[in-house]
Amino acid sequence: MMIDIAKNLHLVRQNIPDTVCLVAISKFHPIEMVEQAYADGQRVFGESHEQELSKKVEALPRDIQWHFIGHLQTNKVKAIVPYIAMIETVDSWKLLCEIDKQAAKIDRIVNVLLELHIAEEESKYGFTLDSCRSMLADESWKNLKHVHLSGLMMMASNVDDINLIRTEMMLASDFFDEIKATYFADDDSFKERSWGMSHDYQIAIECHSTMVRVGSAIFGPRVY
Ligand SMILES: *Cc1c(COP(=O)(O)O)cnc(C)c1O
Repeated sequence: MMIDIAKNLHLVRQNIPDTVCLVAISKFHPIEMVEQAYADGQRVFGESHEQELSKKVEALPRDIQWHFIGHLQTNKVKAIVPYIAMIETVDSWKLLCEIDKQAAKIDRIVNVLLELHIAEEESKYGFTLDSCRSMLADESWKNLKHVHLSGLMMMASNVDDINLIRTEMMLASDFFDEIKATYFADDDSFKERSWGMSHDYQIAIECHSTMVRVGSAIFGPRVY
């Protein structure tokens, strides 16, 4: 099957405002497909596995901003911290501390998003709203000088029920507003609301997303 990446990118870009960041999710797709998207001006890409990401980073242009979007084990943090632009999937206090520790060693500040677990099924990962609240209420995170909290990330349930998707995304959006008002009212850089994938990014835009993570709508189906 021939996938017209440039055409797909244009279609997706047409559907999202300029203010929303398009993260092209290239996991399981070959380097040549990333090159095609790059040639069409795409600079932000997302990957979910450390090894695959590291290979692509070596082979591809330096000005790509790589986002990590998979479950990140603490023993993989060290490998990606030197080059990662954003880790979207911080799902535990332990992981946040490890990113801070590894980033401190090389004097970097790494942008991160806290991953929320809102969907009923799907992922085992992410903070419940209450666990996220209590982590932030503790305020120890303010001592972590080498991570920068840039916002929140979530995946809606993988269902056809648009109302359920919208309900989950609006819950995340309301939660963002709560956290923003409580801890980041003076911090303009706490601003990202990363929700929306190929099948639901248009709903996500209606639910105040600032960052959509789109894979198959750009690169076609993944072959695992
Ligand atoms: C794979 C993945 C995506 C992209 O999924 P598509 O349905 O291909 O757009 C987005 N976010 C996360 C966290 C993913 O793992």
